[in-house]
Amino acid sequence: MFGSRSTRDVGAGPGEAPAPVTDALGRPLRKLRISLTDRCNLRCAYCMPREEYTWLPREHLLSFDELGRLVRLLAPLGVAHLRLTGGEPLLRPSLADLVARLGAVGGIRSVSLTTNGLLLADSAAALRRAGLAGLTISLDTLRRERFTTLTRRDELPAVLAGLDAAVEAGFERMKTNTVVMRGFNDDELVDIVEAARARDVQPRFIEYMDVGGATDWRPEHVVPRPEILARLEARYGPAQQLENRDGAPADRFAFSDGFVVGVISSTSLPFCRKCDRARLTSDGHLLKCLYAHEGLDVRSLLRGTATDAELAERLAEEWRAREDRGAELRLAEPMRGPFVAADALLRNPHLEMHNRGG
Ligand code: SAM
Ligand code: SF4
Ligand code: SF4
Repeated sequence: MFGSRSTRDVGAGPGEAPAPVTDALGRPLRKLRISLTDRCNLRCAYCMPREEYTWLPREHLLSFDELGRLVRLLAPLGVAHLRLTGGEPLLRPSLADLVARLGAVGGIRSVSLTTNGLLLADSAAALRRAGLAGLTISLDTLRRERFTTLTRRDELPAVLAGLDAAVEAGFERMKTNTVVMRGFNDDELVDIVEAARARDVQPRFIEYMDVGGATDWRPEHVVPRPEILARLEARYGPAQQLENRDGAPADRFAFSDGFVVGVISSTSLPFCRKCDRARLTSDGHLLKCLYAHEGLDVRSLLRGTATDAELAERLAEEWRAREDRGAELRLAEPMRGPFVAADALLRNPHLEMHNRGG
């Protein structure tokens, strides 16, 4: 299973940027999304529609030491940008310590966080001090009753307090994420842009995806990118598309007075050909695609007898074999429904969106 190459074979000399390992379609490995927990304090209808789940055993969650070792081995393969997510990553105690620790790994250029914002008011300043660069806060509605219907929790005021505390803390890059659902929040796009602009935060709109957890997904619930843009242009005038930054999932559009909105068209215009990210479930399965059915069991390797060199080679081998382009293949399906049926999710929690990190 393991090759005999040393970690130096996949690394770089001092000061050199490492040559990233590339997959079977020539895509480099640049980014890693790390799900820190499968638990969440909200129950968004598009992600965790039920109250109870088959929770992962807590002893299966990767420890900070294990995450540190893994990131140290992945950096020489090309990983430079980390995003911490979940479930709800702020439920993980001492998160700021992890941010500082991962940010100190050689080759890691940024550590960012995606959160529902509920616990952010108390932690934003500490996260900023720990070196967190990017912060994305999910904000699907500004209407309290809608928020409660969507998430089953009456917590919009706490989320907005978290957003304001984060603005106050002064992160380099702040964004909001809005999953656009026809007939639910598609009449709020301008309101959300205004709320974000007022705080100098970039709003991003995400097409509703048919991922695990989205068991109520229907094609007619998706508001495709042209329609999202048309609603914004009706208010702000014509938008101009900006050049795409390497591998970024959001296409960015500038409006006449200079503000920029991101649109993630994963459902109608997948960007798999440029996809340079791997995902890690909270219990240590490395997924090569959001739609992958299974991943490499890194937890067993980390807790087994593999040396760093052996583990690094196994990780590189995994990426080199990658052919995944899940969203593109989903688009080609004639009778598209939810990606995973509810009963299959009960049998295999690894297929859940909240476990693989969105
Ligand atoms: N709990 C955190 C949060 O909500 O920001 C982080 C985890 S959440 C799974 C990460 C992102 O995935 C969120 O921005 C969420 O809106 C997005 N997401 C979850 N389910 C989705 C779906 N069915 N379609 C599109 N985006 C989805
Ligand atoms: Fe929780 Fe985030 Fe999923 Fe909502 S989208 S249920 S906040 S993990
Ligand atoms: Fe990448 Fe898979 Fe998403 Fe395509 S569907 S962009 S390959 S994670």
